[in-house]
Amino acid sequence: MKTSAYSLTASDWAETFGSQGFAIASLRFWLDGLYKDRSFWDRHISPHSIEWFTETFDFSLPKISRVLESEDGTVKFQLQFADGLEVETVLIPFFKRYTVCLSTQVGCAMNCSFCYTGTQGLKRQLTAGEIVGQYLVAFEWLLQQKPRSLRPSIVFMGQGEPLHNFIEVKKAVEVLSDTKCIGVGHRQMTLSTVGYLPAIGQLSNFPKINFALSLHSPFDHERNQLIPINQKYPLDEVLNELDKLMLLKRQFITYEYLLIKNFNMTKDHALALAEKLAHRKAIINLIPFNPFPDSKWERPDDDEIEKFKELLVSEKLRVMVRRTKGDDILAACGQLKINKMARNYVS
Ligand code: SF4
Repeated sequence: MKTSAYSLTASDWAETFGSQGFAIASLRFWLDGLYKDRSFWDRHISPHSIEWFTETFDFSLPKISRVLESEDGTVKFQLQFADGLEVETVLIPFFKRYTVCLSTQVGCAMNCSFCYTGTQGLKRQLTAGEIVGQYLVAFEWLLQQKPRSLRPSIVFMGQGEPLHNFIEVKKAVEVLSDTKCIGVGHRQMTLSTVGYLPAIGQLSNFPKINFALSLHSPFDHERNQLIPINQKYPLDEVLNELDKLMLLKRQFITYEYLLIKNFNMTKDHALALAEKLAHRKAIINLIPFNPFPDSKWERPDDDEIEKFKELLVSEKLRVMVRRTKGDDILAACGQLKINKMARNYVS
């Protein structure tokens, strides 16, 4: 299988140019042609080099098989790879910019009980080129609709546990953030994990993007019900491992807390959360549960959400409530799964 052209950083390309004896001065035109406009190649790269590259690398991008647009402006893409497998990628409007939510695996092995993706199991890992490809396709689609759009931010919160595909996700982040390739700033990227401990220990070797931990309950017996790998990697071990990370000044970890009716929103939960997080540089992101077909959990009412938020604030925790986006097209957190029930196809 050919290597995807979208899995190489500028320095990888420089090595390739060197090993093939191609003029290194033309590297920037090569990268501009790859990521901006192919006409750079016609003007600056020799036909012989182009022929060698096209024979050696795979330049294909995932194909859009469906696009669904939510009333709130969220757009969900169903993207298909060369082997026919598909993932969902979501474009989320946020003030004047967009954020792209990227998938890192086809399906997921973690089987979290609040997540639609988890019900399908892991089909395969995505390659770095396939992860970068989702971004390029979503951004290109956005530019066609709104030509003056700024480069979207990125969250790795789509299908899959990103740290369970550590090497490819790391490579994708390197390409996405490389200013000679795509150039999304490290601060514009957030990777979310449910607490896959073996890879958290390796995060010191990861680009300095932001991280988010899906916490969801301070109590292991409840977290076990939500996130089965908590039985193997309990919350305190995960928090202690995250504490070892040397964060840069403006790099942060958010703690995501799914709000589930009649389950994890009592005063005891607030007190236990405060005990765990008070001494950490913590921002808690409250996310009202997004229902999906056959899920056993329920979303709380707005006044219950407000009450729990106040409990946390009274414990001096920094709290935000994430507004749900795209739930009418099953594009909200935890709702991604290729399914036949999605409605309002626009292409
Ligand atoms: S929440 Fe994330 S880790 Fe858990 S099953 Fe869903 S995609 Fe996988």
